[in-house]
Amino acid sequence: MPTTRSTEARQAPPPRGADRARRRRLKDKLADVLFGPEGPQRFSTKVSMTGLMTYVPCMLLVVYCGWAGLTPPQFVVPVVLAMVLTVAGFYAALRSGWSRRFADAGLILPQMLASITWDAIGYVLMGEAHAGMLMPAALTVTYGVFALHGRGAYAVQAYAIVLIGATMATMCVVDPAMFPVREAVLLYASFVVTILMLGWTGHQIAQLRQRERETRAELGATLEQIQQRATHDSLTGLHNRRHMQSALAHHLARAERDGMPLTIALLDIDHFKQVNDQHGHAAGDAVLAAFARVAEAALPPTELIGRWGGEEFLVLSTRGLSSEELRAQIDQVRAALLQQPIDVPTGRLCIDFSAGVASHQPGTPLPALIDSADQALYAAKQGGRGRSVIAGVQALPASGHTQIRSVVHASA
Ligand code: GH3
Ligand code: MG
Ligand code: MG
Repeated sequence: MPTTRSTEARQAPPPRGADRARRRRLKDKLADVLFGPEGPQRFSTKVSMTGLMTYVPCMLLVVYCGWAGLTPPQFVVPVVLAMVLTVAGFYAALRSGWSRRFADAGLILPQMLASITWDAIGYVLMGEAHAGMLMPAALTVTYGVFALHGRGAYAVQAYAIVLIGATMATMCVVDPAMFPVREAVLLYASFVVTILMLGWTGHQIAQLRQRERETRAELGATLEQIQQRATHDSLTGLHNRRHMQSALAHHLARAERDGMPLTIALLDIDHFKQVNDQHGHAAGDAVLAAFARVAEAALPPTELIGRWGGEEFLVLSTRGLSSEELRAQIDQVRAALLQQPIDVPTGRLCIDFSAGVASHQPGTPLPALIDSADQALYAAKQGGRGRSVIAGVQALPASGHTQIRSVVHASA
């Protein structure tokens, strides 16, 4: 009998990818329940939980010791229960977020101290096998030395040396047959030496890690500085020509791909040479920096401005303004400049500029766009300066907002 398409679809096993995605979702959900939502707290809860997992083999060890007759059987259940309570307490403190109020949000130091306490209890309860408990105690200290730094690491070491020492001494007195003094002295001496050596090694490694962190931070800062220098002009703080060129190439590709208009403007300060000649090169530099500040503040952040070279600047509209719209923005820069004369040591200078605005024609290369803007700029200069001219549009006689004359004057 022929089967329909829908029956086949129902009988077909789910694709492997979907199966894997479902399993991943399930795993993520389980991790969310166990360790809390994504974030730095989840990471520290996870790390601490991994430490708590070491209690599981310890519980098994206690059960084994009870079964093998090393530990009095009446201690097995209470000890295992107390261990379960220790783990549950730490888990609740971490998972509920209660531990977040402390600098040590992962409760590493309290966990280390609890663990060493359990090692000491194990030493008492394990009868003939008591020496075996010194190994986990040393392991706990090792973890503490690496996970904690400075005072925390010293505290773990000191606690282990004092508590294990006191426990061993007490047991030598209480049960000298099971805990002979000569054996205890030897064990304790090797335990202390091991712990001190571990502490010293941990300290060295911590120092190395600190130096590595510092070097990485320095490298990051240097890289940022290099990047800033490679893309910005040191005098004005604006983007440099190289950066503007790559921004142009990027936006041109976008214009060709999406049909988004690409409009640019070339701005050239009028009679700038006079500033240098009459007020000195330093004043010229100050004018360039002030011009950049004013222009950047007057333009919306969507219009990218960079120093194209000398006293020439390029504005690139990243939001697809038309030539007329960009010219209006440029004229706002002109208005802002006229309202803010620039202070130089020899007086106050009123600066104006000429601008050429051009829009990209689909299918034409970048140099053609820049050339258009340059020709419009030339037309603005020819037309009397202090104005903005759109490429391909007859330069207007100086009137309205384009009438502002280029003025460079000094007043005492
Ligand atoms: P126009 O109105 O035709 O643009 O005349 P202009 O004087 O502005 O143009 P010109 O090309 O004759 O002179 C530009 C001057 O800008 C010449 C150059 O020494 C000066 N210049 C270029 N870069 C800097 C700079 O970084 N600092 C200073 N102080 N001057 C610079
Ligand atoms: Mg020039
Ligand atoms: Mg000029």
